[in-house]
Amino acid sequence: MRIDLHAHSNVSDGTETPAAVMAAAAAAGLDVIALTDHDSTDGWAEASRAALEVGVALVPGMEISCRTEHGISVHLLSYLHDPTHAGLLDEITKAKDARLTRAERMVTLLAEDYPLNWDDVIHHVAPGATMGRPHIADALVAAGVVADRTEAFTSILTSHSRYFVQHYAPEPALAVELVRAAGGVPVFAHPVASSRGRVVGEHTYREMIDAGLAGLEIDHRDNSDDGREFLRGLAARHGLLVTGSSDYHGAGKPNRLGENLTAPDVFARIEELGTGTAVIR
Ligand code: AMP
Ligand code: FE
Ligand code: FE
Ligand code: ZN
Repeated sequence: MRIDLHAHSNVSDGTETPAAVMAAAAAAGLDVIALTDHDSTDGWAEASRAALEVGVALVPGMEISCRTEHGISVHLLSYLHDPTHAGLLDEITKAKDARLTRAERMVTLLAEDYPLNWDDVIHHVAPGATMGRPHIADALVAAGVVADRTEAFTSILTSHSRYFVQHYAPEPALAVELVRAAGGVPVFAHPVASSRGRVVGEHTYREMIDAGLAGLEIDHRDNSDDGREFLRGLAARHGLLVTGSSDYHGAGKPNRLGENLTAPDVFARIEELGTGTAVIR
C-alpha cells in the first residue's frame, strides 16, 4: 500500500483543484491520499467525488496554522475530524480571515518596492481559498521579479523579510485539543523544517503531547537529518505515530506525490482513532 498523508489543492496554496489532486494521486500509483489544505475543509466534497471515481482512498484532513507564545510557526495536520465542530471551526475561521488582512498589509509594503498590487495577487487565489504567501509569490513571478515560488521564499518572502507580517493563529496545544475534541487525529507537520524558520523546543512538544498529540510527520523533505533522529527518539518515548508524506502543492513546489510514504499499520491506527468523519473509499 502506498499512502501519502499530506497534499494541498487550490482550496489553499496548491495549484490544482481537489479533483485534479485525486487524479494525480491515482496516476502516481497511490492507494491512499490525504487532502490537507491550510485552515480549510472546503475541498472535501469535490475530492470525495473524484476519489471514488479514480479509485483512490481519501483521508479528509486539514493543516492548521499555529503559533507558539514565542512566535514560532507550527503546522498541525488533522485527519478525520468533524468539519462542523464549532470550537475548531471558530479557530480556523479566525486564522483564515486574518490571513486575508495580513496579505493586504504585506502587499501594501511590497508595492513600495515592487510592481505589484492587490488585484495581481487576487488573480492567483481561487474563490474562497485560504490566502497565503505562495499567492503573493505567484504575483511576483508574473511580474518578473522572481523566477518561481521557491526563489520568492528564499528572498523577498522569508519570515525575516521586512515585508513579512504575522497573522492570528492558535497556540499548538489548543489546536491539538480542538482536533481531538472534533474526533480528529492531530499530527505535528514537518516539526524540524529549520529552513522555514525557528523550530520549537522541548516545552512545546510536551504541551502538545499533554494535549493529545497523536503523531509526528518525520519523513518529510523539509525535516533536517539531525532533527529526524531527535523526533524518532521522541516518538519512541511517547508512543507517537510516525508518518511520512510529500506535502504536494501541484506546480507550486518541487515536492512530488508519493516521495515519502506512511506505513500501512500507522494508517490503520489513524483510521481507528479518527471518529469525526470516515475515510472515503
Ligand atoms: P504562509 O502560511 O502564508 O505564511 O505561507 C507559508 C506557506 O508557504 C507554506 O504552507 C508552504 O506551503 C509555502 N512555502 C514555504 N516555503 C516554500 C517554498 N520554498 N516554495 C514554495 N512554497 C513554499
Ligand atoms: Fe502550503
Ligand atoms: Fe506545512
Ligand atoms: Zn502542507
